[in-house]
Parts: sequence; structure tokens; C-alpha cells
Amino acid sequence: MKQHAALITGASRGIGAAIAEKFASGGWNLALTCIHSREKMEALAGRLHASYGVTCLTFTGDMGKEADVRNCFGQIEEHFGGVDVLVNNAGISRVGLFTELSLEDWEHVMTTNSTSVFLCSRQALPYMLKQKSGSIINISSVWGCVGASCETAYSASKGAVNALTMALAKELAPSHIAVNAIACGAIDTDMNACFTEEERAELAGEIPAGRFGQPEEAAELAFSLACQTPYLTGQIIKLDGGWI
Ligand code: NAD
Repeated sequence: MKQHAALITGASRGIGAAIAEKFASGGWNLALTCIHSREKMEALAGRLHASYGVTCLTFTGDMGKEADVRNCFGQIEEHFGGVDVLVNNAGISRVGLFTELSLEDWEHVMTTNSTSVFLCSRQALPYMLKQKSGSIINISSVWGCVGASCETAYSASKGAVNALTMALAKELAPSHIAVNAIACGAIDTDMNACFTEEERAELAGEIPAGRFGQPEEAAELAFSLACQTPYLTGQIIKLDGGWI
């Protein structure tokens, strides 16, 4: 039986690393990417290979840059032919007043969070279309649904991901390819390392579930989406403990 393969972008840590572990534990071959933390990602890939016997390709590069995405897919095509599942997880956040947001920061957030989804999805699709199966899972944010004060670029970038998810799902449904997004609330990763203990407690108090989500919970959901019928498509699923 053919072994499935998945590409997980931004997999050196946090949600991406947890998703990589979940897919590896299910016997999937993986391609993992990150932008800076090559050593960390390679250590993860080595551990997943040793624990689960799966092949783990690693690629360091900027998923918002077309040349890097092409190089990454060049390696994937060579080793796996293509991927059955694409998890667009790479992302960054920027916090600050809108009036103090530079064009450079705006473009950096949009390129990393939205353009990467366009570039990786476009590159992954020829293989999926040929197979008439596949799943694209975009790791988005509740701020893409409702907007957050002082996170305008981030909210806009995730809003774009949500709209792209719904539009692309319609375009690909006839080809049995699912496109869904997980709109995360507050997940306990380094992305939230900027909060003090006091701020964390205050934020957790606003969440009906009374706590941050864990990266493993996002990974469970991503994996279950990958295993669903493609009839489940175009959904923006909030994973936020009832927060928003
Ligand atoms: P993180 O900062 O812990 O990890 C981000 C990962 O993305 C890293 O592996 C990093 O190398 C990679 N990355 C960043 N820019 C990249 C680029 N240009 N090209 C390739 N890789 C790049 O973040 P996280 O909390 O694990 O977040 C993962 C995803 O979940 C992001 O898209 C984020 O917006 C989303 N999200 C997170 C939260 C949260 O509370 N942590 C909430 C909502 C949504």
C-alpha cells in the first residue's frame, strides 16, 4: 500500500511540530519546513524517523518566496512524487498600533501568512489534481474571523486565508480535494511568549474553557481533518475553547 506524505510548513516548533508528530505517529512520510531553526527541525525529523520509521525531509526557507517554495517542492517531487496533505502552518504575528505599522511590517506579515498559503497550495495541487484526492489544511486564527485590536496586519492576513479557504474549496470540490482552515484561539506556543504571567492568566480567564489550547489539540484536529471525506470542505473551524 502507498505510504501517504504530508508537507507541514513552519514545523520547527509549536503547532507545526505537534502536527508533524501526530502525522508521523500515524505512519505518514513528511516534508517539514522552517525559516531559521534548521537544527531544531532536523532534531525533530531525526526523532520522528527513529520513533515511527517514517521518512522526514527537511527544508529551510521562506514559504512566502516563490523560489524557496519551488525548491522545496522540487525535493518533495523527487522523494515522494507529491504530497497528499498540505498543512499551511507557517506564520508570524505583529502586535502594535495600526498607525505605527510600517509598510515593510505589513508586507512581511501578509507575505508570510497569506502569500505562503497561495504559493504552497498552487505548487501542491498538480499532484493532488492528478490523483483526484488530497487535503489542504490552513492554520488560521480567530482574528481572521473577527479582527483584533493592535493586530490589524495579522487579522487581515488570516482573513485572507479564511476567504481563500472557502473559495478554493469550491473550486476543488469537483476534484475531491478538501480545503479547510483551523482558526486557532490562544494556543500555548512560543508565539505567545510575549505575554507576562499576569497577562496570560487574564487572557485564560476570558476563555470559557479557562485555559490556552495545547499545540497537540490543534494537531489532533488537523490529523482528523486529513482523514475525513472530501465532502467536508470550505470550513473555518474555530479551536478556541469557546472564546470567540
Ligand atoms: P511559532 O512561532 O511557535 O512557530 C512558527 C513556525 O513558522 C516556525 O517553525 C517558524 O520557523 C515558521 N515560519 C515563520 N515564518 C516562516 C516563513 N516565512 N517561511 C517558513 N516558515 C516560517 O508559532 P505557532 O504558535 O506554532 O503558530 C503556528 C501557526 O498557528 C501560525 O500560522 C499562527 O499564526 C497560527 N496561530 C497560532 C496561535 C497561537 O496562539 N499560538 C493562534 C492562532 C493562530
